[in-house]
Amino acid sequence: MALLRKSLSPDKRALATALLKSRVRENLALWAVAHIGLERGPFRFDGHEYLRAIYGCTNRRIVVEKSAQCGISTWLIARSFWLAKEFALRVLYVFPAKAQLSTFVADRVDRALDDSPAIKAALRHQDGELLAKRRDQVGLKHLGRGAIVFVGSKTVLDVLAMPIDDVIIDELDFCVGEHLGKVERRLGHSDFKGMQKVSTPTLDEMGINAEYLASDRRVWTVACAKCGEEQELRFFGGVYDLDGRDVRDARACELLASPDVTGWQSLADALGRDVHVYCRKCGKPMNRLTPGYWLAQQPGRETAGFKISKLMSATNAVAELVWTYHRGRGNQTALQDFYNFDLGEPYTPKGARIDPAMLDRCRLEGYLMPSVSDAACTAGVDVGAKLHVRISELTGDAAAGATVRKAVYIGELDTFDEVAALMARYSIRAMVVDHLPETRATEDFAARFPGRVFLAEYDTHPRGAGWLKEGPDWPGSRIIKLDRTASLDESGQDILERRDLLPENARAIPEYYDHMSAPVRVLEDAADGNKRAVYREGGKPDHYRHAVNYDRAAMEIIKTFVLPLDEPAVAARVIG
Ligand SMILES: [Zn+2]
Repeated sequence: MALLRKSLSPDKRALATALLKSRVRENLALWAVAHIGLERGPFRFDGHEYLRAIYGCTNRRIVVEKSAQCGISTWLIARSFWLAKEFALRVLYVFPAKAQLSTFVADRVDRALDDSPAIKAALRHQDGELLAKRRDQVGLKHLGRGAIVFVGSKTVLDVLAMPIDDVIIDELDFCVGEHLGKVERRLGHSDFKGMQKVSTPTLDEMGINAEYLASDRRVWTVACAKCGEEQELRFFGGVYDLDGRDVRDARACELLASPDVTGWQSLADALGRDVHVYCRKCGKPMNRLTPGYWLAQQPGRETAGFKISKLMSATNAVAELVWTYHRGRGNQTALQDFYNFDLGEPYTPKGARIDPAMLDRCRLEGYLMPSVSDAACTAGVDVGAKLHVRISELTGDAAAGATVRKAVYIGELDTFDEVAALMARYSIRAMVVDHLPETRATEDFAARFPGRVFLAEYDTHPRGAGWLKEGPDWPGSRIIKLDRTASLDESGQDILERRDLLPENARAIPEYYDHMSAPVRVLEDAADGNKRAVYREGGKPDHYRHAVNYDRAAMEIIKTFVLPLDEPAVAARVIG
């Protein structure tokens, strides 16, 4: 470029320089190389080729499902600086919590500014009037005519009065989700409307993984130098065999069995090289760091989605990943960490979710649900836009505590009158109905069936063991309180141990399998610093799962309060 410019007239030289400047300004990848400094020197893409296309991505909405320490924070910082300084935009940077926010601003943002003098020169030292009182909760940086606002996910509403053009949500899976929708709607006021969501994933089909699955789903694709086959760079299939049993590198496989290998470094030392990654077609070792490209699995979607694993980065040895996986295999928590933080993939621990195979084991061969029942039945109703109903016959020895519930009715209804008709048809002795959100309608309904219909409320702040926190104040009150986690645990256990039987054709019941497998049991940090288990739905409908839970509560009411089982005639009498 310098040579070219010397041969040009001064006018043309000025034009060429201006053109080059505007090209740099328009392209974050070029701009970052020109302006961003890091502790170890100027910013470069070397060893992180996968980042180049992410910097160059012009989609307004970008999702990145990522492993730990893969360079994405630097991208977000560079992008914020760029939008604020060069385009006078206002960027909102959302973190899970205040604590991470202060550390991030001090450790990463302020340092990047110190190492990038051209950007630091544009920094204006003043606090926004609006934020003056909240300096402990939000960070604000004015760059040129733009600004970056840093805020924790719990306090995000405090800054929504400000005009915002671009939003970054960092570690989405660890953010408090309730206010994030409001942030998205707020963008409607801007012409720019940029949105980046980034996180290490946690569970399948939840949080960042759900976002990625809805995007154009780009995968990092490299070509084999031996046979030319282009393929996604993958740990399972490339480093380990597809079922994750053996490492494909025969020498590494031998060494892993040796007592002398005690860590990834000693594995790499004994090998005298890194563990190989293999081509899926010709089976020869291939160079994982060869320049590749991002291939969209769902081209044409509005949101660009990237997923990053440590296998793509020169920062990590393959031996490191192999060792972490090898050592963690027997341990669900270690395995979850490996998938989430090393592979950048979601992981749902075994037993955390009811899966189709568990439900299949509950199907009774040759059994179809009857249209009437004389046996005293229990029922559960989940109340939403529709009423989801599950009715069961009790079989087995109730005294021995081994009651088995066999489904006689599973369906979706529109009105409580339709539910009332089922009271007689199935001789329902006890029914538990979701009290909220239609308190009025459910109370009116319960009043029609005194001593038979109970209204359940979930208690999300458990006060001790046991599923039933408050029984009906017999015979007056109809309200019962269920410990949400404990009751869902118990009804899930029934399915696992085949105490919740289904008809042979259960798979044909619309949405039943989907609703049943929606909630996932996860451990959350409680306010007291301990872990506590909760069920998360991840935005998917789970009405039948609760109908089953209420049905089980109805059984417990019969057992706990020893309701007489032998008066099915009551049903006919009450309905008249
Ligand atoms: Zn090959």
